[in-house]
Amino acid sequence: MTSNRAANISIDLTALQHNFQQVKKIVPDSQVMPVVKANAYGHGMLQVAKSLTQADGFAVAQLAEAIALRENGVDKSITVFQGFSSQEQLQQIIQYDLRPAISQLWQIDLLEANQQASSINVWLKINTGMGRLGIQLDDVQSSYQRLQKIKLIDQSGLMMHFANADEPAHISNQTQINRFLKLSELYKTQTSVSNSAAIISELFMRQDWVRPGIMLYGSSPIINKTAAELHLKPVMSLQAELIAINHLKKGQTVGYGDSWTCPEDMPVGIVNIGYGDGYPRHAVSAPVAVNGQRCHLIGRVSMDSIAVDLREIQAVCGDSVECWGKQISVDEVALSAGTISYELLCNIGRLL
Ligand SMILES: *Cc1c(COP(=O)(O)O)cnc(C)c1O
Repeated sequence: MTSNRAANISIDLTALQHNFQQVKKIVPDSQVMPVVKANAYGHGMLQVAKSLTQADGFAVAQLAEAIALRENGVDKSITVFQGFSSQEQLQQIIQYDLRPAISQLWQIDLLEANQQASSINVWLKINTGMGRLGIQLDDVQSSYQRLQKIKLIDQSGLMMHFANADEPAHISNQTQINRFLKLSELYKTQTSVSNSAAIISELFMRQDWVRPGIMLYGSSPIINKTAAELHLKPVMSLQAELIAINHLKKGQTVGYGDSWTCPEDMPVGIVNIGYGDGYPRHAVSAPVAVNGQRCHLIGRVSMDSIAVDLREIQAVCGDSVECWGKQISVDEVALSAGTISYELLCNIGRLL
C-alpha cells in the first residue's frame, strides 16, 4: 500500500487462482473473462490480470481501464462494457484491439460512420430486463443486421446481464433467459450471460463466455450463502493494529454521539483504522479479529479509528486486528453496514 495510513492491505493471489478454478469447475466448456473493473474490485487490476494466467480474456467497465491493461502487456481479448462514446474513442478501440459492448443505437451510428476495414469483435448487449445498458428488445434484430454489414466488425456476439441472479429462484431470471434465448437462437453467434451469481446458481449453462467478478475475489454473490459454503477463499485481507486499551467504568460512553454506553466496567480497544481508510462508517457491531480472536465494534466508526469490545478476549496493545480477510468475512462486515462486499472492496481499491 502506497498510502501513509496505518491500515495494511494484503492480496492472496493463490486464493484468487483457487477461486478461478471454482469457476472452471462449474462451467468447464465456457471461456472465462474475469471482470477486473474498479481496480479489480479493489485488488489491483494489473496484479490480478497478470496472476490469472488461465483467463481467456478480461472485462472492464471503461475504455481507460482497457487501455491500461493493454499498455501493461495484457494481450488477451478485453471486453469494455461501456464501449465508446465518440469517434475518437472508437479509434482507440480499434487501435488497442478491444471488444466493446454496444448498448445504444448511436454507438452503431458511430460504427457505420467509420469506414475502416479492420477486424474488431463487438458484443451487442441487449436489455432482457436489467434496464441499465442494453438495446431494447424491439431494436435487437435491426441492430444486429446493421452490425453484420459493417466492414470494421468481424464478430458480433450477444450479451445480457441478470438483475436478480443473487436470488436464484427469482422469477425474473427465467424471464430474462427466455428473452435472450429467443434472440440468440436466431443468430447462432457467441453468447455471454453469466456473472458470478448466475455461474454459481447454474442459471444458464450453455454460453461461450462467462463474466465472473466478485466470486474471484472470494466473496459470496448469493444471498444467504457464505463464501466458505461456496468453496471460495477470501483474497483481500485488511489489517490494522490495536493502539490503545481503555478500562472504562459502567455508564461511560464511547465515540461520537455517545452511541455506546458501557453496561459494566469493561476494557475497550481502539484500532487505528476508520472511514478515512475505507472502513465503512455505517458498520454497526461489525466483527473484527484481534490477534485471531473474534470480537465486535462498539460506538461509531471515526475517520481514523474504531472501538472494539475486549470483554471476552485477551489483548495487548500492538496486537494485529483483522477487519476482513481469512477470519472475518467481508460479507459479514458489509451486512453490518447495510451494504454489499463489492462496495467495501472497491473503496479499498482507491487507496491502493
Ligand atoms: C460487474 C459486471 C459483472 C461481474 O459481476 P459479479 O457480480 O461481480 O460477478 C458481469 N457482467 C457485467 C455486465 C458487469 O457489469
